[in-house]
Amino acid sequence: MANNLKRIWDTDPDSKPRERQFSEDFVGRFRSGRLVGKQPEALNEWRVTSGDPVVADKIAELFGGAAEEWDTDKEDNLEVLTDAASVEIIIESSDKIDASMKLFGMQGLAHHCDGVEYLSPDEDKGTPCGCPPLLQDRKDKARAGRGPKPSIDVVFKLAQAPELGLFRFNSGSWELVKVLHTVIADVDGYDGPVRAALSIENVSYTTKAGRDVSYNKPVIKVLGAAEAAQPADLAKAA
Ligand SMILES: [Zn+2]
Repeated sequence: MANNLKRIWDTDPDSKPRERQFSEDFVGRFRSGRLVGKQPEALNEWRVTSGDPVVADKIAELFGGAAEEWDTDKEDNLEVLTDAASVEIIIESSDKIDASMKLFGMQGLAHHCDGVEYLSPDEDKGTPCGCPPLLQDRKDKARAGRGPKPSIDVVFKLAQAPELGLFRFNSGSWELVKVLHTVIADVDGYDGPVRAALSIENVSYTTKAGRDVSYNKPVIKVLGAAEAAQPADLAKAA
């Protein structure tokens, strides 16, 4: 697919990635994978990590699984492997969705752009970053460790337990970044907060050459205004 990341922002220039750090306090993170040994493993159901036992227990109560310690030097030392592939979330506004392209090197962030221009460091900001225009070329470069890959951040509350506070989902999914402009437009279609389904979906097909392909992708589907959406909407979206 010939795609240019910059086009994502054409429909919605105000949502173009900003150099914004997520400074809010998060009570937990939704993750679509984990490390088994050193090997990344994609999950079919959400894994939630938190440093707060009350939050972890509530997640287990709502979505299945149990709070257990996992090997991390970060604050969120509890994980819940839930049974839920889809959860209903509340996104306050499209400001809570951020995306850019990042390549990390030995010294930290080595390339940070929107696909066309640098977003940082300040002295390079706005100048052409040299990323190839075609999505496949970008993927190839990223895979070879020579080009940036997507970094998408979504901040949200849980529709079933908004009182818990803010959660975060960070994704490097090319599938999600391709459609993110429509998600942002959908969120912007409402004045206030929206309800959305945050899901892990499996994509399976057989190539013309007869090779079976199967992978998971994160999907965000806006269901409606936060006040108006009904639980039934989630079933429809699933
Ligand atoms: Zn670039």
